[in-house]
Amino acid sequence: MNAPETVIADPEPHVMHTYARLPMAMSHGRGCWVWDTAGKRYLDGLGGIAVNTLGHAHPKLVPALQEQIGRLIHTSNYYASPLQENLASTLCELSGLDRVFFCNSGLEANEAALKIARKFGHDKGIARPEIIVYEKAFHGRSIATLSATANPKIHAGFEPLVEGFVRVPLNDVAAIDEVANTRPNVVAVFLEVIQGEGGVNPATTDYLRAIRRLCDENDWLLMLDEVQCGIGRTGKWFAHQWAGILPDVMPLAKGLGSGVPVGAVVCGPRAATVLQPGNHGTTFGGNALAMRAGIETLRIMREDRLLENASAVGAALRAGLVRELSDVTGVVEIRGQGLMLGIELDRPCGELLGRAAEAGLLLSVTAERVVRLVPPLILNAPEADQIVAILCPLIESFLQETVPS
Ligand SMILES: *Cc1c(COP(=O)(O)O)cnc(C)c1O
Repeated sequence: MNAPETVIADPEPHVMHTYARLPMAMSHGRGCWVWDTAGKRYLDGLGGIAVNTLGHAHPKLVPALQEQIGRLIHTSNYYASPLQENLASTLCELSGLDRVFFCNSGLEANEAALKIARKFGHDKGIARPEIIVYEKAFHGRSIATLSATANPKIHAGFEPLVEGFVRVPLNDVAAIDEVANTRPNVVAVFLEVIQGEGGVNPATTDYLRAIRRLCDENDWLLMLDEVQCGIGRTGKWFAHQWAGILPDVMPLAKGLGSGVPVGAVVCGPRAATVLQPGNHGTTFGGNALAMRAGIETLRIMREDRLLENASAVGAALRAGLVRELSDVTGVVEIRGQGLMLGIELDRPCGELLGRAAEAGLLLSVTAERVVRLVPPLILNAPEADQIVAILCPLIESFLQETVPS
């Protein structure tokens, strides 16, 4: 994210400076709209970075969470949890997979996936297992997940990185074939179905099918990081379902709890029993409040047909962006699926974040030159039109005022 142009004084002198923040502070929200403490209203094209599946203050979610808070927030993983079984069974039903481990965030879900891959290797006698990861990948900020991440800016200052990763380019079957032929210690392939932070870069259907086949032939785990692209965002429950394949391991987080922190690793038969009692754990993971948030999010998504909405409104939003921007010099590509869209420009455009907020629209800029829209899945057609109406003139004037680089 870009820093504001001029910072007069630090408005948050006790908050660690891990983000270069804009000065406005959000006060409350309703649906796809958020108000700041000065009363200014914003259309939420960011959804808390693909988190607020049901938007803000959803009338079906709020009373359910209030009821849960009044009943039970947390006990511990020492006791049986009907709420965990309830959410896990729904995730298994929707994914066709078998068992779920619950945690609290995306990096934790990915960390668990990496541990499963390593233990899967050790269980079959590979003492130094290797995992295939991708150029432009993002998997989180812990030491292991930042090592799996591609961006050198995310590595800088935190070396030595965790070893045991082999990096390949996305959508290049020859490159991964080469790894299969030369590295006997590979145990898993780990990728985002649509790279989020890396610039909204989809893995192609053909590529996903090819790596599924390669995993079967080589006894590797296919681990699909659906932390950002999962939970209905592309118009299917999980983005890989467009390719008609099944993963062995699927980390989830962001949209699963509509804003309540919850992560999950969903596993198929080859991975579901790799972790045994004592191998992994978490204090907060699977707590009653988080589970209820997940259960209600999925229930409301079904009841309100939000997959269909993400597909239809996402297509309309994309069509509007294409209509207004495809002939504009400086716009490289408009891509993505459903309500996960990226507009790549021919130059760094971080300042569009602040310009859009000024104009009443929340969005993000990722991979330096990609404007990213990941709004709530309740976005309606008029709101999609408003995003187009606010954003496209901003991009055009930005491109006129700046030069390509
Ligand atoms: C956001 C994200 C993560 C990290 O999730 P956190 O909850 O921030 O730890 C991991 N993978 C992908 C694909 C993400 O988009």
